[in-house]
Amino acid sequence: MSRPERTYLDWNATAPLNPAARAAAVAAFDLVGNPSSVHGEGRAARALVEGARRAVAVLAGADAAHVVFTSGATEAANLVLTPVFRMGKAPLAIGRLYVSAIEHPALREGGRFPRDAVTEIPVTPAGVVDLAALERLLAAHDAATGLPMVAVMLANNETGIVQPVREAAGIVHRHRGLMVVDAVQGAGRLPLSIAALDADFLILSSHKLGGPKGAGALVARGEVLMPAPLVHGGGQEKGHRSGTENVAALAGFSAAAQAALDGFDARNARVAALRDRLEAQMREVAPDVIVHGRDGPRLANTSFFSLPGLKSETGQIAFDLEGIALSAGSACSSGKVGASHVLTAMGFDAALGGLRVSLGETTSEEDVQRFLAAFERVAGRRRIGEAAA
Ligand code: PLP
Repeated sequence: MSRPERTYLDWNATAPLNPAARAAAVAAFDLVGNPSSVHGEGRAARALVEGARRAVAVLAGADAAHVVFTSGATEAANLVLTPVFRMGKAPLAIGRLYVSAIEHPALREGGRFPRDAVTEIPVTPAGVVDLAALERLLAAHDAATGLPMVAVMLANNETGIVQPVREAAGIVHRHRGLMVVDAVQGAGRLPLSIAALDADFLILSSHKLGGPKGAGALVARGEVLMPAPLVHGGGQEKGHRSGTENVAALAGFSAAAQAALDGFDARNARVAALRDRLEAQMREVAPDVIVHGRDGPRLANTSFFSLPGLKSETGQIAFDLEGIALSAGSACSSGKVGASHVLTAMGFDAALGGLRVSLGETTSEEDVQRFLAAFERVAGRRRIGEAAA
């Protein structure tokens, strides 16, 4: 029996491996040296790692010397979200972490802060971090405990809604705080510059860009202010992250970072047109479909919607059976679908949940048409009760 054709519309969970990233990673597997070795083999591996550092720095609009490679965005988040910092050689205490209610769990869990030193920043019903609430929270911050740290993502992974990061950073810096920005979903989709965002730290992930899974970076604004290491050992990454670098994954990350900047405008415009057509046709088929965050700035590739009468778990399975890979909010490690904390934070009926379609560079018009044909069937069954939960 031939396998049914599959349509992959879950790029925010992970992007298909970019061919250039694949080729670079495969070639790097044959490099025998350890990047810390001083012999020729070691220096060849080191050159690759440093090339990757430059490529990631260009993507982040940062200085290559300020890029610390990690095993992914989750590790980068756990590295930077800590009460223990150093300002040069002097210790610096961070008293409290303020984290937006819609952050990815990698940040929402609070990293190395004790639970009772983490405060959630609410979002508006439009899915945007509430800047007035941030201002109030920081005005009430107890400076005796240490400086405040704030984490607000560049774009939300479920809704695609772009957050007012620069404005938030202005508030944070007025209160002498540190600003951490999870740029995982924005990289390659929005112009990115650590200075333009006025962030102190950016977090990046290779696999959301078409690079291999299991590589990421913490990008710092400068070199002086750095978190205490999370992974101790041989002192790689200038002591910020010990362990032999994942050379092949970093070679792929490097190629993916470069590809993300090549043809940036044309790619995002094409994806936006596909997404907009998809949404317009969803509305024709099901005028009651609710597209979250439609009225504000959003990533061009993301559509997060709810269909009255269709629970997100039911919808996800129904689409999967139709050959469409999409997601009910964020991908959970357990594979189970939980209530969307993003919809809850927006004050939406989280029990109904939402379905996320996320497109990318190789998504075709045919993919969108296959999705829409499936959508029509799923939405139709919902009306006669078959797919309704
Ligand atoms: N932050 C956001 C916004 C994400 O979407 C993800 C991935 O789902 C992560 C962080 C975690 O990234 P990684 O898989 O590299 O640990």
